[in-house]
Amino acid sequence: MSDLRELYQEVILDHAKKPRNFHTMPDSARAADGHNPLCGDRLRVFVRVENGVIQDISFTGSGCAISTASASMMTEALKGKSLADAQAVFESFHDLLTTGNHADKDEELLGKLAVFGGVREFPVRVKCATLPWHTLQAALQGSAAPVKTE
Ligand code: ZN
Repeated sequence: MSDLRELYQEVILDHAKKPRNFHTMPDSARAADGHNPLCGDRLRVFVRVENGVIQDISFTGSGCAISTASASMMTEALKGKSLADAQAVFESFHDLLTTGNHADKDEELLGKLAVFGGVREFPVRVKCATLPWHTLQAALQGSAAPVKTE
């Protein structure tokens, strides 16, 4: 189990050090801001949707390793997904972090995102991990108010 945990930490650290899709997008893209005052994470998520499909997704900002890795892996996981599929991934991810309950279908949906399962043991960190996802939801809903975890 400890080997597995180390592997998970490696994946998270890799994404935290070299975040994928870490850039802004033109004004035409939808965007929303997220802030987790408990930790100091601040990020902006950009998303471009066409015909119900996430064509492009990116983020900027600064935060801890967990929030940065979660945002980075979220962009990788959701690019090219339909909004319905993205919502299913979000719900599985949320369940993984809050209840720990997940079905086999969730494992398939989550893929590499399953590495965040260990974060559940640290409730403060759960907010770091879910911040990018809640921020994406706000961007998709066209909400102008910044997302706050508090
Ligand atoms: Zn954080």
